[in-house]
Amino acid sequence: MIRDVTIIGSGCAGWTAAIYAARASLNPLLITGMQPGGLLTTTTVVENFPGFKEGVDGYNLMAEMQAQAERFGTEVKFLTKVTAVDLSKKTFMITVDETTEIETRTLIIATGARHRHLGVPGEHELENKGVTYCATCDGALPMFRNQPLVVVGGGDSACEEAMYLTRFGSTVYLVHRRDSLRASRIMADRLLANPKVQPVWNSAVEEVIGGDSVTGVRIKDVHTGVASTLDCAGVFVAIGHVPNTEVFAGQINLHESGYVQQHEGSRTNVPGVFVAGDCADSVYRQAITAAGMGCIAAIDAERYLAALDAEA
Ligand code: NAP
Repeated sequence: MIRDVTIIGSGCAGWTAAIYAARASLNPLLITGMQPGGLLTTTTVVENFPGFKEGVDGYNLMAEMQAQAERFGTEVKFLTKVTAVDLSKKTFMITVDETTEIETRTLIIATGARHRHLGVPGEHELENKGVTYCATCDGALPMFRNQPLVVVGGGDSACEEAMYLTRFGSTVYLVHRRDSLRASRIMADRLLANPKVQPVWNSAVEEVIGGDSVTGVRIKDVHTGVASTLDCAGVFVAIGHVPNTEVFAGQINLHESGYVQQHEGSRTNVPGVFVAGDCADSVYRQAITAAGMGCIAAIDAERYLAALDAEA
């Protein structure tokens, strides 16, 4: 069986593409990846997605999108990962979990992005022993209760994580390599007004320290070079994202940073392959922009197929 539309990824972009493709009677197949719902399922309240005056829980928002896509006939392959693609022929071949092969006439890449790691000694060794990339997932663990905690980063994610952690930690240190936040004004102001939050400006984490669990971080002042240690039980890394595009390298044109190069809407360098969401967007990276890109990709795929069929 050759599919008309296969979508890789189950974040806002993927589900929105599926809703549009399914409503266009293209019977899309959506491959979720190993984290169904994508990164939004790890946030708490999403306050800026239009239509929800009081905000909406990220997990619930994704569950609703999935239900909507399925209602119109999207077929879903859960907890499966694309391990190879062959985009060299007119019908594309997608390999899932190294065994199952899927043939498809169009492909929508909506693979999103993953958390960036610091890459310092101790980070990898102490992952799940106090080093984490998701306060919502791990913040309430007993090991972090009434303990000093460190959040690394200066963007909206870092602010959101730090704010959430004020419920659990004794002090939340926000370690940032600059002297001001990159986060949106409303998030930054709200955070810095919280008495439990202590910003540590102009500082880079050089090492995560601990044995069985995290006991502190070694930080360095980026201007003076002076090193010091900050005692803490948890390190929450919130320093941005890396696009999940490795599997397409060599076939789809990528920017140096790994983001997919797109042109004329959602088109890639391979006719019939379209892209949507954070894997192609290093600038806006919002749930609503990813959803919009998913819509564009589905419409582009639908028109591409209609043109192919008209030629035949
Ligand atoms: P971001 O805006 O790219 O911020 C990443 C932060 O990490 C920056 O402050 C950056 O420092 C720092 N950083 C990067 N690499 C580092 C390293 N190796 N060591 C130390 N610090 C490092 O990423 P984000 O906060 O994840 O946000 C991504 C997008 O999602 C943004 O558009 C944001 O608005 C959006 N978002 C929105 C919400 C919301 O509205 N509820 C929540 C979360 C995210 P520099 O400033 O020095 O570059």
